[in-house]
Amino acid sequence: MASDAQSQQAAPVLDGTKDYKPLRSREYDLKKPHITETPITWGNWYKHVNWLNTYFILVVPMMGFVAAYWTPLHLYTAVFAVIYYFNTGLGITAGYHRLWAHSSYKATLPLKIYLAAVGAGAVEGSIRWWSHGHRAHHRYTDTEKDPYSVRKGLLYSHIGWMVMKQNPKRKGRTDITDLNEDPVVVFQHTHFLKCVIAMGLVFPTLVCGLGWGDYLGGFVYAGILRIFVVQQATFCVNSLAHWLGDQPFDDRNSPRDHVITALVTLGEGYHNFHHEFPSDYRNAIQWWQYDPTKWSIWTWKKLGLAYDLKQFRSNEIEKGRVQQLQKKLDQKRAKLDWGTPLDQLPIIHWDDFVAEAKNGRGLVAIAGVIHDVTDFIKDHPGGKALISSAIGKDATAIFNGGVYLHSNAAHNLLSTMRVGVLRGGCEVEIWKRAQSENKEVTIVNDSTGQRIVRAGDQVTRTTQPLASAEAA
Ligand SMILES: [Zn+2]
Ligand SMILES: [Zn+2]
Repeated sequence: MASDAQSQQAAPVLDGTKDYKPLRSREYDLKKPHITETPITWGNWYKHVNWLNTYFILVVPMMGFVAAYWTPLHLYTAVFAVIYYFNTGLGITAGYHRLWAHSSYKATLPLKIYLAAVGAGAVEGSIRWWSHGHRAHHRYTDTEKDPYSVRKGLLYSHIGWMVMKQNPKRKGRTDITDLNEDPVVVFQHTHFLKCVIAMGLVFPTLVCGLGWGDYLGGFVYAGILRIFVVQQATFCVNSLAHWLGDQPFDDRNSPRDHVITALVTLGEGYHNFHHEFPSDYRNAIQWWQYDPTKWSIWTWKKLGLAYDLKQFRSNEIEKGRVQQLQKKLDQKRAKLDWGTPLDQLPIIHWDDFVAEAKNGRGLVAIAGVIHDVTDFIKDHPGGKALISSAIGKDATAIFNGGVYLHSNAAHNLLSTMRVGVLRGGCEVEIWKRAQSENKEVTIVNDSTGQRIVRAGDQVTRTTQPLASAEAA
């Protein structure tokens, strides 16, 4: 059947993606305006609602809550509901997401059948539909073509995108050729409604009914309400994981890492990592982080059910982490006052420098750079007398150990008092240093183009303490 259908594949479109004619749910007339292109009014709002989805994710759970009021909760049913919750949740996280949407590992046929079955029990659409949307989400994250873009609001990314009709013309295209060739995926897609009823409702009802006579409890708690919890938990990957937490690998898009999201979603909460390394079978990379989906895949590997687990080298992962740290550091650095850049300072003649100092301005020359210390004299930690004695002089040697070997902090502070560069040979050297401060982009400019002045690298610092005190 599958090979028959494969021959009916549509021709590839420009971006190399293909569709699969026999599995398309409905053909749209792309020339006619879609309902989403008309604004919502009191008269047409019901046409904007996707009633089938609304029924499955809102109406049925509401009926379940009402029924629960009259249905006593049997202990065994409660325990089974929790166990089945984990199984159906894994169907989505380990199956739909990490196996089929991202091919982060390979599964043997029995494992595939198990994941497709319990995944259907979570009632979140077929593997094929889900993975198509998820691949579009990764390809077009945060853009118009992202089916659940958090930029359209937290509630939209959580549930709005399913409750409201979507414009098929704006749907991001992705290649799902591999899924169309997977018989388990094709079977589940073509028989999806039967799979949902069997695994979502009939199976849990039968287990509780045949097991301990609690048919009604099985239907209400392990069926309907368990479906509601699994759905809401996995929807959190689209909403909460793009809204709450840190961005240790890249902060240009919305995905974030947070332990709360991980706890809710069977380990899918390390979403910043996941968007950077989507084909890694792990979402959490530290052993102490909560990722039961990863632990399950690892266990299946040990049991011979899963193989070819994909993992990025820690070298690659750490590069991303360091670059993001660097970016944060650069942002911090850019907020600080490092003094006027040397090549923006005026050139001052030695005689003008001396004359101005005589007129009462507290000018000091250090390593060819003139600093105005007038307002600092009273605060000088070494006392007024020492700093005053350097006014109108070249204090390079005094500052660099002739009298006192000034600290890194002192050089930093001094740089904020720069007012000019001394003419007379020195400025050439200063310019050279300014060049190396400004032009060697990779070494001395940060990612925002700001100059980096490393500790001990200030222009006022000379490598050897100078012997003579009165260089001028
Ligand atoms: Zn995401
Ligand atoms: Zn993903």
